[in-house]
Amino acid sequence: MHILRKNEPMSLHTTFRVGGPADVYAEPEDEWELRELMDTCEAAGTPYLLIGHGSNLLIGDGGFRGTVICLGKAFSEITVDGEVITARAGALLSAVANTALEHGLTGMEFASGIPGSVGGALVMNAGAYGGEIRDILLSADILEMDGTADRTDAEGLELGYRTSNITALGRTVLGASFRLKKGDPAEIEAKMKDLNGRRKEKQPLEYPSAGSTFKRPEGYFAGKLIQDAGLKGFSIGGAQVSEKHAGFVINKGNATAKDILDLIKEVQRRVFEDAGVRLETEIRMAGEF
Ligand SMILES: Cc1cc2nc3c(=O)[nH]c(=O)nc-3n(C[C@H](O)[C@H](O)[C@H](O)COP(=O)(O)OP(=O)(O)OC[C@H]3O[C@@H](n4cnc5c(N)ncnc54)[C@H](O)[C@@H]3O)c2cc1C
Repeated sequence: MHILRKNEPMSLHTTFRVGGPADVYAEPEDEWELRELMDTCEAAGTPYLLIGHGSNLLIGDGGFRGTVICLGKAFSEITVDGEVITARAGALLSAVANTALEHGLTGMEFASGIPGSVGGALVMNAGAYGGEIRDILLSADILEMDGTADRTDAEGLELGYRTSNITALGRTVLGASFRLKKGDPAEIEAKMKDLNGRRKEKQPLEYPSAGSTFKRPEGYFAGKLIQDAGLKGFSIGGAQVSEKHAGFVINKGNATAKDILDLIKEVQRRVFEDAGVRLETEIRMAGEF
């Protein structure tokens, strides 16, 4: 096993930098070890949680009773064949986008600043600046809950706005292939720089967060609704609605998962009161709060 630890603080593995201990934390070395871990959990009747870069996750202060399995460095290989780029689940989107740039392939620029892994990006159908994973996904390698391996496409994953069927069906993403197009490297690089510059300017990247806290409600922008409800800068404990971008809940320093969850609930309540709109979280929650 690449890494196997007991009582591992999940604050070390989430971009919110909060979360209590997982009973067991494992980074398998290969697919064989991954399957073995899952079989062991199943035999013991303990749950497991797959994570990638932890950039869309809020894990409770009580931690996770079971095994957190992270597909990390050992699952980060990226290969290129013509206009198709294939990455294992643990590869970071930024690394995949940089490899695309190196090979003069366009289509992945939108993803270069999303701080997640390929696995997490498929689960969330991650997207930004008019692009999303669904647009470029050629195929995904999936480990089904019954242990069989499957290759499917965007339709088979039911990719929609920040959603897929992966978690609901207990599927594990092992890797994915993306169909890109030949492009001009200078233009690809310029686009990546422009999009990442826009992120820096608009998003509170200097604080721990999990990106946009809420999904965009049909016909509205979550950040604007939150701002209009007078909640920009509003805080509970160490959690704050970012002053820079009201769509982000940030950890100002010593936030607990409870602070963040309480703040999310209060924002949902006040926005509903103010505008009659129900904000749905984009971030995923797990563990004991
Ligand atoms: C500063 C910042 C900016 C962001 N900007 C964007 C943005 O522009 N667009 C956007 O869409 N998102 C954005 N995000 C959110 C996040 O980066 C994406 O949702 C990303 O795709 C999550 O990937 P991850 O590897 O971190 O997933 P994790 O947070 O580790 O996991 C997310 C979900 O996927 C599951 N999962 C992870 N890996 C696997 C796997 N291999 N198999 C099965 N299930 C798995 C987890 O159980 C969990 O339910 C941002 C986050 C931050 C912190």
